Amino acid sequence: MKNITASKLYDYIKCPHKVWRDVYGPQDEKIQETNPFVQMLWDRGVAHEKNVVAEMGDYLDLSKGSFEERFEKTISAIRNETPLIYQGVLKFENYLGIPDLLKRMPDGKYVPVDIKSGSGVEGADEEFEEEGKPKPHYAVQLCFYIELLKKLGLPNTGTGKIIDIYKKEIEYNLNASRGKRNKMTWWKFYDQIKNNTQVLLANEEQNKPAMAGSCKLCPWYDSCKKWCKENEDLSNIFSLGRAKRDTINEDLCINKVGEICEVDVTDILAKKKKDKNFLKGVAEKTLGKIIVRADILHNKKDPVLYKKIDLPQVSYGLFFDIEDDPTQEFVYMHGVYERSPAGEKFIHFTVKDKTKEAEEEAFSNFWKYVRSLPKNDFAAYYYSPHEKTTYRKMQKLYPDAVSAEEVEAFFANPNVIDLYNDIILKHTDWPLGSYSLKEIAQFLGFKWRDETPSGALSIQWFSEYLETKDPKKMERILLYNEDDCKATMVLKDELERLDKLIT
Ligand code: SF4
Repeated sequence: MKNITASKLYDYIKCPHKVWRDVYGPQDEKIQETNPFVQMLWDRGVAHEKNVVAEMGDYLDLSKGSFEERFEKTISAIRNETPLIYQGVLKFENYLGIPDLLKRMPDGKYVPVDIKSGSGVEGADEEFEEEGKPKPHYAVQLCFYIELLKKLGLPNTGTGKIIDIYKKEIEYNLNASRGKRNKMTWWKFYDQIKNNTQVLLANEEQNKPAMAGSCKLCPWYDSCKKWCKENEDLSNIFSLGRAKRDTINEDLCINKVGEICEVDVTDILAKKKKDKNFLKGVAEKTLGKIIVRADILHNKKDPVLYKKIDLPQVSYGLFFDIEDDPTQEFVYMHGVYERSPAGEKFIHFTVKDKTKEAEEEAFSNFWKYVRSLPKNDFAAYYYSPHEKTTYRKMQKLYPDAVSAEEVEAFFANPNVIDLYNDIILKHTDWPLGSYSLKEIAQFLGFKWRDETPSGALSIQWFSEYLETKDPKKMERILLYNEDDCKATMVLKDELERLDKLIT
């Protein structure tokens, strides 16, 4: 019987297929080297954990030794009423759990605590005084440790805690329901996740890969992508996702992209009317989109622009992109590819030290540059709402660099266009499974100069630059950012070409 662990439950929530593929998948197809970005996050997590633990005062360190030895020491430490145990091992049948801390409360009961290098809850918003709710992958891990304490007959509070990136201790109420609409408690949710994970680990059920954005950092990415391509899996259709793919597989007995182009929509909608559970979660509009996208992907193989977009006709075209590390909330580069009557050039505002002053200076210089442009004679293009939300946050941090009104006026300007949200998502379709800038620009023939261009790797290069001050690392980030900006320009030009074809 395969061991069930907290990280298997975590994996199940992130991707149910990974649980199965890790054990029964083609091991020779699994990428063996850890992705450098994933490694960097891992190292940061370890450093954060060490940092938190160093400030804890006295604790019993059980991080070394075999599982068996550590398990025995954990049991006797709890029986001896040890106040704080680090990396104790809990084991029962095929359950194996290692909570970062086991903390003895004043009533003598223990609470498992996990140290995380992310925020402790999701959806918190200080501006609207919203507290946020438990993260599912943290909640199931805490449930798992508590169940282990219970199974072993050890005193426990029935609750768990998270120490987050800000070293804030957050209690998880696992008896609460998951949300306002979802009345299922966290315990019930945990039971479902655990049972599904066990079934997959025992190979009693198998599931299939499904292409999603998060796959890119997974060691199975190439292997799963190959499988999806060879099998013409429906998850190759943009934004379809695992849940809808599974529903269509089951209810329509359709597995291939080509097959869904042929369905009789009237017949399906009639069935849906009669039976509410038929194609649940796939509304009429969504079904229509799926069929259109499948047709473009499988048959037409050309992009489609559905309506005229009339992009601004101005002297200055700016294509901009920021490089930032969301895990540290730090923006280290604002890049602009400028096209004007004087020609084309790349301009960048870059941070060379990880200080607030350096971050503010680069941000401030970006705005000075924007102010230097001829009013009403420039257009700025970017890809995704990330730039807008990041600039709003930065303005709050650095109000001397730019006022809130100026930031709002800039993004409200009809000549400042989020190509992804305003045009690609609303008015186009592409013969691609992802509408990311990388996928679309490469489809259009654009090539990044870097062999492995990726935003995640740029974060890692910047982290290495800070450590070594090696100018080659900075050069790599600059080339990558410039190419991202140029790719935005290539896409904008293609949209203009498609626009001209519409009469
Ligand atoms: S590549 Fe994607 S589908 Fe495959 S195991 Fe990883 S996350 Fe899951």
